[in-house]
Amino acid sequence: MEIKELSNKIFKNAIEKGLCRDIPETVAWLHSEVSEIYEAFKKKIKAGEPGWIGQEIADVVILALSLSEQLRIDIGKEIADKMEINLSRDQY
Ligand SMILES: [Mg+2]
Repeated sequence: MEIKELSNKIFKNAIEKGLCRDIPETVAWLHSEVSEIYEAFKKKIKAGEPGWIGQEIADVVILALSLSEQLRIDIGKEIADKMEINLSRDQY
């Protein structure tokens, strides 16, 4: 599945489930999801258990894709463009 198709599917689901919020609230939610990655790592939660780090990373990516769709950003292009910048640098 292409990233644009995936972003559309994620955002459509957010709208249908009533999960779509305003931009500042979505950014705050994204921040809390990032913290859940840290918690999963700290608690050493294993694969398959609720709160596993893989699922928490997925939550962050899903929410970031939903946000980019909400803002009508072509995230595939932005990632490709940013990777070109990053590849030319010694650090992010
Ligand atoms: Mg989460």
